[in-house]
Order: sequence, then structure tokens, then C-alpha cells
Amino acid sequence: MAPGKRMMMTRRHSPHKIQVYLGGTTDSVRLKNSRRGDTKEEKEAFAEFLHGAGWKTEEIIQSMKDADDFYCERLALVKLDCWSKGHMVLIGDAAHCPSGRTGMGTTSSMVGAYILAGEIGRHCGAEDGKDGLAVALKAYEQKFRPFMEQVQQGVLEDSEDGLLDSLMATSFGIGIFNYLAGKMSFLKINPAKWMMKENVKNWDLPEYEELLRD
Ligand SMILES: Cc1cc2nc3c(=O)[nH]c(=O)nc-3n(C[C@H](O)[C@H](O)[C@H](O)COP(=O)(O)OP(=O)(O)OC[C@H]3O[C@@H](n4cnc5c(N)ncnc54)[C@H](O)[C@@H]3O)c2cc1C
Repeated sequence: MAPGKRMMMTRRHSPHKIQVYLGGTTDSVRLKNSRRGDTKEEKEAFAEFLHGAGWKTEEIIQSMKDADDFYCERLALVKLDCWSKGHMVLIGDAAHCPSGRTGMGTTSSMVGAYILAGEIGRHCGAEDGKDGLAVALKAYEQKFRPFMEQVQQGVLEDSEDGLLDSLMATSFGIGIFNYLAGKMSFLKINPAKWMMKENVKNWDLPEYEELLRD
């Protein structure tokens, strides 16, 4: 089996525990076929995929097998032409999951839900008649879509990460990356503003006085 690209990152969130992020791209049939939620099989397939990657891989694989909070998901992007049909409307990841690469999943979910609530509050009063909801859903789409288009722009397209992918393909490149990441951490520089999609431009969060009604 071709191992594909493999990535490991550790993140300490408490003095007693450390989180390990494992990821990559692979043509592993075993990993692709592992049933979602079949933790034992997912762990085995992941171990097979990661085996031999160097550094502390074998130690990490053992810890992964022992972990009782293992979580595995495929990186996904949800793009839909329309977020509602009749009285059904989607919000959050179901409507526009921007993938873990953006760091904007929760923000997008909250902003979208807020705009939907605001537009329903604005257009679905007793005096708005039966078409009020249709107007509200259309306005939700019109106001929020430009935000999501910026967040999702270029995500999962190969060209976007070409430089980073090339850098991470060799030990030398990984060394440079780790050196720069260490320096940025020491200097408290947040690289997220270049790597993530947190800077949505020329877009203002609407204000809804309607939401303040009793
Ligand atoms: C590892 C990881 C790291 C992340 N890091 C970040 C980050 O740093 N910053 C960020 O902004 N975002 C991050 N995200 C993304 C963020 O978690 C999601 O974008 C966000 O949770 C989406 O909210 P949601 O309410 O749409 O969906 P969810 O939070 O997934 O909520 C959906 C809920 O529906 C429930 N459900 C599913 N099916 C059914 C059913 N049939 N019946 C009833 N209930 C059901 C689920 O159990 C779940 O509770 C991360 C995601 C992952 C996986």
C-alpha cells in the first residue's frame, strides 16, 4: 500500500494530557472502508497507515490504541447551491461545512444561525402573512452566502496548499517548517491569519433589533 501523505501534530491543553492530531491523504482501502464509529477497526487502519512515519510514531500509535477519546473523521467540504426548500432550512456544517482547514466551522455555524434567526424575526411577524418565511429564507441566503463564499474560497483545492505541501514532502522542509513554527510561537505570532480563513473582508454582521423583542 502506498502510504500517502502523513501529518502529526501535538497540542497540550492541560498539564496532564496531550492531544495528538493525526492526518493525511491515502489510498488505503482499509481506511476508506472502515465503518464510521467502528473505533477498533479505524484505529487498526490508522496504525497501518501511519506505521513507519518516523519521529515518535510508534509511541503515538500505541497511545492511540489505548485512548478512550479517539475521534476519526474524513476531511469534508459541504457546498450547496441552496440552503432551504419549502419550510426546511439547513444551518451549520450540514449547510456549509468549511472543513477543518479554515478554523471557521463554529464561527460560520453561529453567524448563519444568528442571521437566520434575525431574518425570521424580521419577516415572520403576525402582520407579514404566509409568505414571510419564504422572504426570510431568501434574505438569509442573500446575506450569509457572501460570508461563506469567502470562507470556502480555495479550500481543498490543490493549488492553495501547493507550497506548503512541497515543503512538507521532505525532512529538510519539515525541519524548516518546525523551526519557523517554533520561532513564531516564541514571538507570539499567530500564523492562523495566513493559514486559516478568519479574515472575512467587506462583510458586516447585520444587526437585528427584532431579536431584542420580548
Ligand atoms: C477535530 C475538529 C476540530 C475542529 N476545530 C475547530 C476550530 O478550531 N474552530 C472552529 O471554528 N471549528 C472547528 N471545528 C468545526 C466545528 O466543530 C463544526 O463546524 C461545528 O461544530 C458545526 O456545528 P453544527 O452545529 O453544524 O454541527 P455539530 O456540532 O456536528 O452538531 C450536530 C449535532 O447533531 C447531532 N446529530 C447528528 N445526526 C443526528 C440525528 N439523526 N438525530 C439527532 N441528532 C443528530 C450530532 O450528534 C451533533 O450533536 C472542528 C471540527 C473537528 C471535527
